[in-house]
Amino acid sequence: MIPHNKLTLKREERLCAERVIKSGWIAQGREVELFENEICNFLKLPKSHAVAVSSCSMAMFVALTVLKAKQRTVGMPVYVSRVLRGAAATAGAKEKLFDINRMDPNINISDVRKSPPDFLIVPHMYGIPVDLSGYSKSIVIENCAHSLGAYVNNQPTGTIKDVGVLSFQATKLITSGGMGGMIVSKNSGFIKKARDYRDFDESRSHVPNLNVKMTDIHASIGRMQLSKLKSFIEKRKKIFKIYSDAGLSLLGNDLSKNLKPVRYRAVIRTSNPKKIIEKLNSNKIRSIIPIEKWELLSGKSKFKNSIRMTEETLSLPIYPTLSLKDAKRIAQIAADTK
Ligand SMILES: *Cc1c(COP(=O)(O)O)cnc(C)c1O
Repeated sequence: MIPHNKLTLKREERLCAERVIKSGWIAQGREVELFENEICNFLKLPKSHAVAVSSCSMAMFVALTVLKAKQRTVGMPVYVSRVLRGAAATAGAKEKLFDINRMDPNINISDVRKSPPDFLIVPHMYGIPVDLSGYSKSIVIENCAHSLGAYVNNQPTGTIKDVGVLSFQATKLITSGGMGGMIVSKNSGFIKKARDYRDFDESRSHVPNLNVKMTDIHASIGRMQLSKLKSFIEKRKKIFKIYSDAGLSLLGNDLSKNLKPVRYRAVIRTSNPKKIIEKLNSNKIRSIIPIEKWELLSGKSKFKNSIRMTEETLSLPIYPTLSLKDAKRIAQIAADTK
């Protein structure tokens, strides 16, 4: 069976974890600090402008908490992971839902403009970056769970607006060993607040903190993965091109020049996803509907583009260890299923 997604953890990552265990220090320490600064370097941010946490969910929660989003509105698309809702609710904020665009899986910014929330969480879905230049009506958190390494106007996603949040969960572009996240920002004042929240045991303030730390074991794995990210992105790009060359109608295939995506997902638009899923399945290839209708944050009919997206899309295997030969076979089967 060719799975829909697969880990790219190798001997190097095992040795990193082993090195940290042998060192006698496994909690947040030197490795976390190095990982943060390597992410800053990757994102062209000054040193110390990243705060590692236990997940992207917690990154959003901490960002909203220190920005005092309590009782204020947080905008988000309905076509997204449920943890956005969880982060906003746990921070005591009121959610405000928006539909996505007709032709891409990203939040519809012209809808947002019409009734701007205090805060806006913008995921660059499936690695397709959202151009947010010119939008300044909310404090924006760029959710880069899918888009580490994507650019808008030569600026890395996560560094364009106020705050960026990253995920290193098992299925993302890189993983820090199953779970992990990071908060990044150009704004030193904000970063200091986020760091103080996390490092509560070193602070005398008595805000109600939670332990959201990353461990040095996770950071050491994340660092090794980060050193491979460029090659991962290149391989994903090759696979995406094979699907595109086969004539498949891929989301984010035709982007304007200023947007540089990363191919986190190869999602095709088709009137009959179930048929292609079954055909691939009978060839021992697993594809999935990336977000099902019941997973939407709301199924109300006014979110029509989101609903359509759940009915007309399917996600093909794309990951660094998928061979180009297998990708060609997958492309052929999907393209031949009418
Ligand atoms: C995976 C994902 C998250 C959650 O990340 P965790 O690190 O598992 O908390 C958040 N947002 C989006 C868009 C995701 O895909």
